[in-house]
Amino acid sequence: MSISERLPISMRTEALESILVERSLVDPKVMDAYIKMYESDVGPLNGAKVVAKAWVDPEFRERLLADGTAAVGELGFKGPQTEHLEVLENTGEVHNVVVCTLCSCYPWAVLGLPPSWYKDPAYRSRIVREPRAVLHEFGLDLGADVEIRVADSVSECRYMILPERPAGTDDLSEEELAALVTRDAMVGIAKVAGPQ
Ligand code: FE
Repeated sequence: MSISERLPISMRTEALESILVERSLVDPKVMDAYIKMYESDVGPLNGAKVVAKAWVDPEFRERLLADGTAAVGELGFKGPQTEHLEVLENTGEVHNVVVCTLCSCYPWAVLGLPPSWYKDPAYRSRIVREPRAVLHEFGLDLGADVEIRVADSVSECRYMILPERPAGTDDLSEEELAALVTRDAMVGIAKVAGPQ
């Protein structure tokens, strides 16, 4: 391990930032604006709107599964880390769950910033080797007949899950449906629960 690797990540980030600023490669004001935007404005609510629309509009659902980037762009969601978005549909037979085994690739424009467990090396290695056990630890138990597929984000491709629409939601509006959709369901470590 090199000296730089032994330093805490926050210190390494700060050092990198000061060099970039010093050489006028980044503007600290622009960087602060980005961080603020992803902390307060962009979050899983965007993805929830996408899911609810796909549940009520079959043609949008088709477009979403065919070309995720273009379909979420229709709702105005685009930006860094979401240039190539693939949407995978969860059904009673197939359950998809998303990981980035290499680092922490995540579709920011629809889900915001990734949760800490998503970046955890334990999640990143174990979800591939023993997905059923990891999902169980998250509180999701799938039947033995359900096929689990792990989608590994690579290079420019980001994934989002289109979860199954829960039963008992036929009378809900698109807005009410969106309120049921959680970030965890769009990463695939949970299902969307119906209204209580
Ligand atoms: Fe990554």
